Amino acid sequence: MQQIYYQNNNQYFTGKLDSFNQLISNCQKCSLSKTRNNFVFGSGNPNAKIIFVGEAPGKHEDLTGSPFAGRSGKILDQNLSLINMTRKDIYICNVLKCRPPNNRDPLPSEVDECEPYLINQLYIIKPKLIVALGRVAACTILKTKEALKNLRNKIYKYGGIDLLVTYHPAALLRNPNLKKNVCDDFNLIYKKYIQ
Ligand code: SF4
Repeated sequence: MQQIYYQNNNQYFTGKLDSFNQLISNCQKCSLSKTRNNFVFGSGNPNAKIIFVGEAPGKHEDLTGSPFAGRSGKILDQNLSLINMTRKDIYICNVLKCRPPNNRDPLPSEVDECEPYLINQLYIIKPKLIVALGRVAACTILKTKEALKNLRNKIYKYGGIDLLVTYHPAALLRNPNLKKNVCDDFNLIYKKYIQ
């Protein structure tokens, strides 16, 4: 696991996930703190073996404070049912904890400021698998510009933890033909990490 610089302290926060949420929920490290309605820390099982990571909160997430709300959240729930899981079994969060205006891609400077929080979440949860949802999340985490279709079906490491890449649920709303690929990805998750 790479070292993080949590509030310039050069140390991990090692307490409970809820306490970490409270500690950073008023973060002002980047300008997104000025435009957000809600800080979106993440939700789910603090002992999850699988953590799903998107790029950043969208409109509904910003309004509710919960990750993967709205229609893409419903698609995610359907995808989880493919592997006999619900949100109570997994943990879900984003690389950025605050919404970029108009859902633009995260800026590198924002990722630099916020990614240590994700790394610290992983340090506390200690999952067996990270699933990056969508090209932006995958490319941000893996520091690559590859197309998503070239990133699927491979196991990467992030902070020493296995990482797989699949489509963002919103991509299925735009293109239902991706459903087969997503089913294949979730089958891989099931066979390697659940079965
Ligand atoms: S996006 Fe991250 S670094 Fe920026 S204000 Fe929100 S929590 Fe802090």
